[in-house]
Amino acid sequence: MSESNARGLALHWRILIGLAVGAIAGLVCKQWLGDHPGLKWFSENIANTVGQVFLRLIFMVVIPLVFCALTLGVAEIGDVRKLGRLGLMTFLMTLLFSGASVVIGLGLANTLKPGTSLSDESRERLKEQFTSDADDKIKKAGSSKGIIATLLEIIPRNPLQEAVGALDGSSPGSGLLGVMFFSLCMGVALTTIGDKAKPVLAVLEGFYEAIMAIIRTAMSLAPYGVAGLVFYATTLLGFDIIRLLAGYVVAVILGLSIHMFVVYSIAIWVIAKRNPLTFFRDILEVLVTAFGTSSSSATLPTSIRVVDENLKLNRKISHFVLTIGSTANQNGTALYEGITVLFLAQVFGVELSLSQQIIVVLLSMLAGIGTAGVPGGSLPLVVLVLQSVGVPPEGIAIIMGVDRLLDMSRTTVNVCGDVAVAVCVDAIEGKRMESHSDAITAS
Ligand code: ASP
Repeated sequence: MSESNARGLALHWRILIGLAVGAIAGLVCKQWLGDHPGLKWFSENIANTVGQVFLRLIFMVVIPLVFCALTLGVAEIGDVRKLGRLGLMTFLMTLLFSGASVVIGLGLANTLKPGTSLSDESRERLKEQFTSDADDKIKKAGSSKGIIATLLEIIPRNPLQEAVGALDGSSPGSGLLGVMFFSLCMGVALTTIGDKAKPVLAVLEGFYEAIMAIIRTAMSLAPYGVAGLVFYATTLLGFDIIRLLAGYVVAVILGLSIHMFVVYSIAIWVIAKRNPLTFFRDILEVLVTAFGTSSSSATLPTSIRVVDENLKLNRKISHFVLTIGSTANQNGTALYEGITVLFLAQVFGVELSLSQQIIVVLLSMLAGIGTAGVPGGSLPLVVLVLQSVGVPPEGIAIIMGVDRLLDMSRTTVNVCGDVAVAVCVDAIEGKRMESHSDAITAS
């Protein structure tokens, strides 16, 4: 997603302006006109429609994106098997960190309950206005199946049927989760058939690029879409929505801070035996770049340079881990997805059972692998996780306005995680690899 616009102001500034204009105009109109039918008409038919055009464009690419991104992502990691232990170590570290991040996210969302600050009246209004069939979904979510049945349904009988019903909850099995499972199998299978996989991967890569082009176009409409959605939400709920969003933002930023400063520090200290303070000081430039660009991919060149210059890791290890990590290790994104799903479930009054929360953990971890390292890359995947556990995905409209700030923050954690994994893998594998290459040179 191109950040600066040829006509001047960068996209994120335009989105923030859209947010401010929508919020201020909505609050002023609500204060001034109250429940006037004219305001209601404008808000529902004009402002909300502009927002829906933007949202629908994002929804439109969810299924093809999931299939291409996951298949390609896994095929890339699959190649990594050639690198043996190094690939395995990276994979295990990625799982460890992203699992920890989602658990922190869910723990915080369950204790702080940021989505419960709405009054009952506002909640009813939201349910009525934001989604036509929220109640159906909520009932469906309530009638959850047991853990074994839920896990079994992850394997789809018919992936196409799962895909067709995935966005409106009418799939017979686990919906998008089934599509994800199929994509994972395809990715793994492609790595086992040698050269025959090449044309398939080339087609998927082309398809993936085309989807990215559609997302870029959708994002260029984001300033207007966000203004419309925020106007609609504020005329509906007044100050309630601001309080609600403030609680959500605090929960996400708190979760990200705990993961970055506690989990990474412990890992750096215990596994890599380095001083965490020195670590953060050495990679400050990387963190600032990630925060500024909201893109793990755009930060990659800086990460590689800074890690080479300041951390002095084995280059073979660090370049490999950082490159794979910039798309496949996104702990901040996984944490953010976990909190967002629980927050929106609370907002819409959907109770998530233990098995559904486990599904959220797994999906958020997978989403971390499937998310492109670009600004807003995780939004289509949030839709997916919401849908999979029966939370109305239209709810994403509520959080769109504050997404930029959270995107900058979660990208910082994503990139810090890549460097942390590189440091830990280097500590475990570095010596072995050096002695191995010494032995080869000597013989
Ligand atoms: N912007 C994030 C990244 O590049 C992805 C996301 O969470 O939207 O790491």
